[in-house]
Amino acid sequence: MTLTSTTTSDDVVRTPSARGPVAPSRGTLQPLRLDQVAVTGGPWGRRQDVNADATLAHVEHWLEREGWLGNFDATAAGASGADRAGREFADSETYKLLEAMAWEHGRTGDAELDARLQAIVARVAAAQAPDGYLSTAFGRPGTPDRWTDLEWGHELYCLGHLFQAGVARARTAGPDLLLQVCTRAADLVCDVFGPGGIESVCGHPEIEPALVELYRVTGERRYLEQARLFLERRGHQVLSEIEFGRSYFQDDEPIRDAEVLRGHAVRATYLSSGAVDLAVETGDDELLAAVVRQWDATVARRTYLTGGMGSRHQDEAFGEDFVLPPDRAYSETCAGIGSVQLAWRLLLAQGDPRYADLIERTLYNVVDAGPSASGTAFFYTNTLHQRVLGTVPDPDQAVPRAASSLRAPWFAVSCCPTNVARTFASLQTLLATTDDEGVQVHQYAPATLTADLPGDRRMAVRVVTDYPRSGRVEVVVDEAPGTPVTLTLRVPSWAVGATLSDGGTTSPVAPGSAAVTRVFAAGDVVRLDLPVAPRFTVADGRIDAVRGTVAVERGPQVLCVESVDLPGRVHVDELVVDTSQPPVEVDGEVQVQGWLRPHADAAWPYGTPGEPAPAASTPTQPVRLAPYADWAERGPTTMRVFLPAASTTAPATTTPQEA
Ligand SMILES: [Zn+2]
Repeated sequence: MTLTSTTTSDDVVRTPSARGPVAPSRGTLQPLRLDQVAVTGGPWGRRQDVNADATLAHVEHWLEREGWLGNFDATAAGASGADRAGREFADSETYKLLEAMAWEHGRTGDAELDARLQAIVARVAAAQAPDGYLSTAFGRPGTPDRWTDLEWGHELYCLGHLFQAGVARARTAGPDLLLQVCTRAADLVCDVFGPGGIESVCGHPEIEPALVELYRVTGERRYLEQARLFLERRGHQVLSEIEFGRSYFQDDEPIRDAEVLRGHAVRATYLSSGAVDLAVETGDDELLAAVVRQWDATVARRTYLTGGMGSRHQDEAFGEDFVLPPDRAYSETCAGIGSVQLAWRLLLAQGDPRYADLIERTLYNVVDAGPSASGTAFFYTNTLHQRVLGTVPDPDQAVPRAASSLRAPWFAVSCCPTNVARTFASLQTLLATTDDEGVQVHQYAPATLTADLPGDRRMAVRVVTDYPRSGRVEVVVDEAPGTPVTLTLRVPSWAVGATLSDGGTTSPVAPGSAAVTRVFAAGDVVRLDLPVAPRFTVADGRIDAVRGTVAVERGPQVLCVESVDLPGRVHVDELVVDTSQPPVEVDGEVQVQGWLRPHADAAWPYGTPGEPAPAASTPTQPVRLAPYADWAERGPTTMRVFLPAASTTAPATTTPQEA
């Protein structure tokens, strides 16, 4: 493939394709194009607006201020990298910002944003070596030689994020300088790591899905083949042993043989995403089945109620099965995003609504929890139990990753803010899909959707809803062909008792999906009513850390109690919930009934069993719960999701401290 300018290429797409972040050439479901789907309001509309209005500029400001953008200028100038700013993977944050800007520009056509994007691309392009190599951390004076630290150097990881930015730009604006930079770098990667080259992989998967996507944009099969080589090599101990073990970077076992996701959670989800991409493009059903098997096991045994993944702090990794302690949840925002990326690919490949269920759970309770409402402060980890009040980070100071007790403006390792930015800029693409029979709506937000169907047919609908505040979702037909079309609506796993109304008939629908097949006409309305009343949720008994507790969910949202909502702002650990009284909604607020009982400190926090539950005669009081994703928006607070439970009808085990 040759691509020497924005206008002279013969063999790559010359116009933007308006495809979203994942564009498989085959699969059960096909994503809608960017010009076919828009979120028009609701919580996700607000997130997209805040991302555009605040987060992108915030990220750009911090990249400039920390010198991470300046690294490209210094590299271009041939300056020494001895005092280079940031960690070895800092380049990737610039690339993720570029990807976010590209999707946002594609969404709104914002010309000023486009100019900012192009200015950054020019600085990145200037830093690229004549042979295509691009890194500010290696291969220039004052830095280590190229490819000398595959375990920790992140060179290929960074290029993966570069390629995803180039793909986003090509799909939204056509092939330009950024795609040229990508293909030059990708060609070098194929030369260096292809057959006969360095037979190894990057310590951080990411280039695998990126190379498949770059193949999808350019048609260059060499990129697909290189992705296959990287995926097949990993697991054969091609990287050096490290203190966390090779499972940390999934080099312990070939992906075809593994039974569950393990090791670093972001690495695991990115790698699996690349495997699905490769499997789909090459028709490799065995590889796809291997990823599905691992996803099933991971969701069944290694995922938090929020959808969060990763319980181990020391290596940001999955714990063993059912090791999901709420107060030690790592649940990195990026791992949630990686999980969404993986589930979306599996949904497209296989169509199972369970994938969309996990996407919804993770979007509402991990991805939405990460950034503040203002879009300018972020959680890196997402604990489910905050035991100390914490302090408000200086809005003008970067903090070490994961050490922030409240949302911080920037991190020394700042992967999460840029990941949030690119996710929200392309969020609308997760709403719906199409197949030969019709349209599938997976996520509920005010939106407009259009699908091209076989035979030059078109179906256009509006989604009208106040979800998740209300469980009512109306799909209003704006345009329909005069032939039968199937409209499929996801019924979330928690939505027991949902109903579907069409043409004056209302029917119960079970969790999974509900489909209506008929000839639609403009003005027709199909209505889904999901029961979003608050509900108690208990965990599998093998998740020992939350035994004897309940959580409260409402629709797709996990709720929590915050000490700022308790009388006297007492510590959340004083609350015991009365599970004989179900949670209720009063004036739009969810309440449980519970007892607030101070703990008596003892010299030794252990004792004899058998302390009684709160007596039935002790009056309970209402306690307000709030969406977990909004926690700490009102300043320092203690918080917990899993609440110690007792019942006036069935005494529960209590701890000695409650004596
Ligand atoms: Zn992160």
